[in-house]
Amino acid sequence: MKFKNFPIYRIEWVTSAFLIGTAFLSLTVVPWFLWTQFNLPVDAANKVHGWGFVWALFVFYYYATGFGITLGYHRLFSHISFKAKWPVKLFVLLFGAASFENSAHDWCADHRIHHKHVDEDEDPYDISKGFFYAHIGWLLFRLKPPAPITNVKDLEADPLVMWQHRYVQWIGAFVGFVVPAILGYAYAKIFYPEYDNAGMTALAAFLIAGLLRTVVVQQGTFCINSLCHMIGRQPYSTDHSARDSGAVALLTFGEGYHNYHHEFQHDYRNGVKPWQFDPTKWIIWTLSKVGLTEDLRRVPDSRIMAAELKEKSRTLGRDIDSLAARLDERSRELKAKTITAAHELATELARRAEALKEAAATKADVAHETMVELRGLLNQAASYLEVLRRADAGSAA
Ligand SMILES: [Zn+2]
Ligand SMILES: [Zn+2]
Repeated sequence: MKFKNFPIYRIEWVTSAFLIGTAFLSLTVVPWFLWTQFNLPVDAANKVHGWGFVWALFVFYYYATGFGITLGYHRLFSHISFKAKWPVKLFVLLFGAASFENSAHDWCADHRIHHKHVDEDEDPYDISKGFFYAHIGWLLFRLKPPAPITNVKDLEADPLVMWQHRYVQWIGAFVGFVVPAILGYAYAKIFYPEYDNAGMTALAAFLIAGLLRTVVVQQGTFCINSLCHMIGRQPYSTDHSARDSGAVALLTFGEGYHNYHHEFQHDYRNGVKPWQFDPTKWIIWTLSKVGLTEDLRRVPDSRIMAAELKEKSRTLGRDIDSLAARLDERSRELKAKTITAAHELATELARRAEALKEAAATKADVAHETMVELRGLLNQAASYLEVLRRADAGSAA
């Protein structure tokens, strides 16, 4: 694209200035501030007192605004994967605003289109337009004029959501920037009255728990739209680009299991296996135990297993063939039995997936033993692949 053809009129100036400005300040002013503070003598007039409190505030805000997005905007409002009482709604709306990712109303409208048209041109953060576009580009400039919002009628009937939508910038600025500064100020006033420079602690709280935290939480969210459509595993479906990434889950309160999420978007869990890191799921479950959330939606294990079996049967034959093709003549003969067995297993997996899907459709119970047996078949598939992978490494050496 020639520069003179760049659609300048499509630039979102306010959003761009905010995103680029906060990121720039976090990379320049924040480290400079930390460095100069570190080198100041204890009794200097502009020395910050109460760093422990400032960092605790950072951690609190990181989690509160992060859960505002993952638990609130995403799993509650976009997907209605559970119901929540008003204190939970109010909390996620206040701290969701303080993450500066738009109002819940607008965020959900975009997100519902993302699920409906994933990887297509209508997808607001379509990964086929590249990493940069899916990560942040779509916010900096709009390729097309925004379409009227019609897919969040349910949210428009919720007065709390609409109140946040109307005042989101004010709520965000107050909760996200002003409150940390006030808390920093109050802390220094109470615990370090002898220095009489509480304004410095207020400034530190603003820079660390306000500014820096905003950038960290936003980049985490953006990684879901970019990295989780590029790197990771696809155990549940290869019909779309979404992937499961444990590493991204660590940064995003459990949202990294994105392949599962795109396949079963109404499940309140994203990390569905017991060992997966999904603190958003743990909080929703814990809140349900004290009556603050209810009607947690779960996809039955048999349907999840059917998806896994189908996907494995689809990929097993293909992976075995490509691995076998890379073996030299002698190793291929040695492994002929494994190759045949793997192909038979792929057929078997497809048959079992079909049977499970039928059972799920008629709501028939699936015995625990059957599920254990099916899990065994999936492990068997993995071990065949491992045998050939080793043979491949051996023949390459
Ligand atoms: Zn996605
Ligand atoms: Zn989603």
